[in-house]
Amino acid sequence: MSAAMPSVSRRLLARLRDVMAGGGTAEERLGKVVMLIAADMVAEVCSCYVMRAGEVLELFATEGLKKQAVHNTRLRVGEGLVGDVAAHARPLALADAQSHPNFAYRPETGEEIFHSLMGVPIIRGGRVIGVLVVQNRSMRHYTDEEIETLETVAMVLAELVASGELVNRDELVPVDGNALLPLRLEGIRLNAGVGIGVAVLHQPRVAIRRLVAEDPDTEMERLKSALAGIRDALDELFSRPEMRDGEHRDVLETYRMFTEDKGWLGRIGEAIRTGLTAEAAVQKVHEDMRARMSQISDPYLRERMHDFEDLANRLLQRLSGGDASPRGELPADAILVARTMGPMDLFDYDPKRLRGLVLEEGSPTMHVAIVARALDIPVVGRCKEVLDKVEALDPVIVDGDNAQVFLRPSEDIRDIFAEALSRRELRVAGYAKLKDLPAVTRDGVSVSLMMNAGLLLDLQHLDESGADGIGLYRTELPFMARSSLPDVTAQTVLYRKIMDQAAGKPVVFRTLDVGGDKVLPYWNPYEEDNPALGWRSIRITLDRPAVMRHQLRALLRAAAGRELRVMFPMIAEVAELVEARRILDLEIEHERDRDHPQPTAIKVGTMLEVPALAFQLDALLPRVDFVSIGSNDMAQFLFAVDRGNPRISERYDPLAPAMLTFLCGVAAKCDAAGVPLSVCGEMAGRPLEAMALIACGVRTLSLASPAMGPVKTMIRSLEVAPVRAYLDGLLHGPDRSLRNKLKCFALDHGVVL
Ligand code: PEP
Ligand code: MG
Repeated sequence: MSAAMPSVSRRLLARLRDVMAGGGTAEERLGKVVMLIAADMVAEVCSCYVMRAGEVLELFATEGLKKQAVHNTRLRVGEGLVGDVAAHARPLALADAQSHPNFAYRPETGEEIFHSLMGVPIIRGGRVIGVLVVQNRSMRHYTDEEIETLETVAMVLAELVASGELVNRDELVPVDGNALLPLRLEGIRLNAGVGIGVAVLHQPRVAIRRLVAEDPDTEMERLKSALAGIRDALDELFSRPEMRDGEHRDVLETYRMFTEDKGWLGRIGEAIRTGLTAEAAVQKVHEDMRARMSQISDPYLRERMHDFEDLANRLLQRLSGGDASPRGELPADAILVARTMGPMDLFDYDPKRLRGLVLEEGSPTMHVAIVARALDIPVVGRCKEVLDKVEALDPVIVDGDNAQVFLRPSEDIRDIFAEALSRRELRVAGYAKLKDLPAVTRDGVSVSLMMNAGLLLDLQHLDESGADGIGLYRTELPFMARSSLPDVTAQTVLYRKIMDQAAGKPVVFRTLDVGGDKVLPYWNPYEEDNPALGWRSIRITLDRPAVMRHQLRALLRAAAGRELRVMFPMIAEVAELVEARRILDLEIEHERDRDHPQPTAIKVGTMLEVPALAFQLDALLPRVDFVSIGSNDMAQFLFAVDRGNPRISERYDPLAPAMLTFLCGVAAKCDAAGVPLSVCGEMAGRPLEAMALIACGVRTLSLASPAMGPVKTMIRSLEVAPVRAYLDGLLHGPDRSLRNKLKCFALDHGVVL
């Protein structure tokens, strides 16, 4: 029997493929499909139930039951045997179905004459979207092979059910244990704003084009060679000196063992022998596993599941020829969903079509969040398991303001958000009116608002935001966008364009600040235990002076005939600033020797983002023209908290007394020395934090352009003297954070946040 089954099933699969690709409506094709299955499996009945909104399984096609039951027989998930299959996402085979306690008799079907029943879930993306059932008059004992066959058929059928031709895709209700339609997920706010669109999976599940194979032996060979490819890649890793020993090697060795897991490979092999292509077989085994594992809460088992999931994805990628990038087919209103992303990954997508970003991980100062902010894309991070719960093209609403995400929202919810969106647009239009008004407090303190930028694209916001200039130009983003280091000419052209577009407003160019989470694609990242504390930023460019020299040369050339402002990042001690300045002087001389036109003035500043530098302010301030506090890194180092680690990145608040005391101290020193101080980290762009910074004595803020309106509104409603006095009274207290107190102060004093 077991030897005969696969070939029967293969013939069935080939026929199913023909019917599904043939003419007629989807229901007509489904009707033919159930007929074929009944005949092939020698069953008197074959029925297909499809999941509809409200967790209801509706009979869509039947061979053998009364036709009037079609679209009339409906069972809730968990109700009856069909509902049982859906609720548990597992097959059921009963010789005497009617004696089962869950049997629910439906007179309109005329099923009382059928005794045995075998049902399997129709699964897609880890969710049950229907149930396929066969029934026999006799008390038939269905074999394991028959169950396997029906599962394989159900997998092929899933294509038709999920296609949206039978029921609207919105209706395909997930029942994988805890996910129901519509779904609201909570996360953390990484960028405010609301986006409405459809889901695009950043690492989309590989689309399998070919489900049914001609020759199982060829498929087995393909599977073997894909596995061999993965093993070779692992072996290559093992041969590297740094992989000689250590825990990372153990982890990878365990992973390699999975590629030889007999049970897993055996199930894939069986699926191939039933007539599926190698990729469809991997997918099938994987879907089965996911559906069953979703009900398992043991964290260890779930971890193993991730290993298999990763392996399955790699296999699928190899088997279906690689590039799963969705570029080119991005929907007009796309919501990107990803586990996590590097800052450049966003640029694989057309920003004009991106309405939002949802990440399973993430922290407010991670660079992709910063880039998203510059592009004004709402972002919700730490949205747990969103990838398990969303399907490509699901309708999604990202509500960055309230850190929530709606998957497949109802009409009502959609209307509410569409309205909120248009209200927000009105508010933005209101901010636009503020653009030419000064950022002056009610008690006459003038604050300079500058803009953060990192892309030429950002420059278009300079005028419309009314910013006084660019307070931080992150030069690394263009470096990261290329496949090789840009040469002096390319950099000169770029920097000149930036200055041209700034049209006389000052631009502070920060020299290359890579490393940490900003990886250049053409520089092999140096393996480090703590990249945030590692070889990054100025440490790299001081060690590779040619890179620094070329960048400075390009900046000098681009600024010929106008003022140049250069800022060095991650300076930890004055000696580093002195060394960086020496390199700049060399370049100035280099250009002078060649009679190249010079900038009219050169202002040199430093970022203050490593606490040690603050203890050398007496030596530093006479040597710089300005200082800018990078509050993202500063908070990371002050609290010893990795800004990219979601577990802890929010453990400490930048509005903690320690951080604010620190800021007040630096502001006072800079003021006394007459050195302009700004803050250019993310803090500066949030009204409450900006209020605290102004209270500390900071008079220049550099922020992302969308934050300009809200921060200016806050400033124009603020009186500095009372908030300063209030803050002074709090700095020495034991509070973890002054956030609530400052918020209450703002409310009581009419400060608009
Ligand atoms: C900072 O650290 O606050 C900063 C502005 O620099 P970046 O975020 O680019 O590291
Ligand atoms: Mg920094």
